[in-house]
Amino acid sequence: MPGGWKNSTRRSRLPPNWRALRAAAHRRNPGHLCHICGRPGGDALDHKQAGDNHSLDNLDWAHDQMPPYCHRYKSAAEGNAARPSARRPPERHPGLLDPPTERN
Ligand SMILES: [Zn+2]
Repeated sequence: MPGGWKNSTRRSRLPPNWRALRAAAHRRNPGHLCHICGRPGGDALDHKQAGDNHSLDNLDWAHDQMPPYCHRYKSAAEGNAARPSARRPPERHPGLLDPPTERN
């Protein structure tokens, strides 16, 4: 299953203090407000910036096993973005105003 954990090294790449990080993230946000949708009940500690930055600043709760499944959608999108076919720059919306010209 694409985006699944079956062949992922993700779990083994978690730091040895992962449990302490989870506990700290829980203390900081005891209602587990989902950082994606803003509603309570997030059940997964998400890396807000995908990768191996396990600092508490980069960790927050998101819905994974329960609706609206914010974390699953985010992870799937990250997986798709990592695929070579998806590595072209996003097209600019044709209705956007021209960006301001950069100085320097
Ligand atoms: Zn959510």
